[in-house]
Amino acid sequence: MRETLVLNASFEPLSTVSLRRAVVLVMRDKAVVEQAHPGLRIRAATVDIPVPQVIRLCRYVRVPFRQRAAWSRRGVLVRDRHRCAYCGRKATTVDHVLPRSRGGGDTWLNTVASCSDDNSRKADRTPEQAGMRLLTEPFEPTPADALLLALGLKDGSAAVPEWLARPA
Ligand SMILES: [Zn+2]
Repeated sequence: MRETLVLNASFEPLSTVSLRRAVVLVMRDKAVVEQAHPGLRIRAATVDIPVPQVIRLCRYVRVPFRQRAAWSRRGVLVRDRHRCAYCGRKATTVDHVLPRSRGGGDTWLNTVASCSDDNSRKADRTPEQAGMRLLTEPFEPTPADALLLALGLKDGSAAVPEWLARPA
């Protein structure tokens, strides 16, 4: 799959995203096509856009992670948009999914944002032991993830069928 370069509104390069993501950004009026593959277009019932090589965001965004980010508590809260992974309410603490006392570490994949109620309820247990369920899986934020998070599109891929982003 081709990658598309994403520029901030200030023309500063931010990241690359999959062609499919790039199409989502253009279709949602979040970005405009700056440079396209000559002669290639994506056509569907309501869409006819050139296949983007470079897109530029319509509004300037602050992107929280530029490179692969070192783990930090603050970073986990930003990644999870300050929402509790167990109940979706405002999170102020970071929970270790596998508790540190059981060998769980300070890693992106083992930590989630949590409200203080759920954090103390879960205590020194795994989610299974505590009868709690993660609403979202923790992930290591890449620059592309960070960009989609900043645009509020982390879950936006479902809106565009896979075939639509495939150049004809
Ligand atoms: Zn909670």
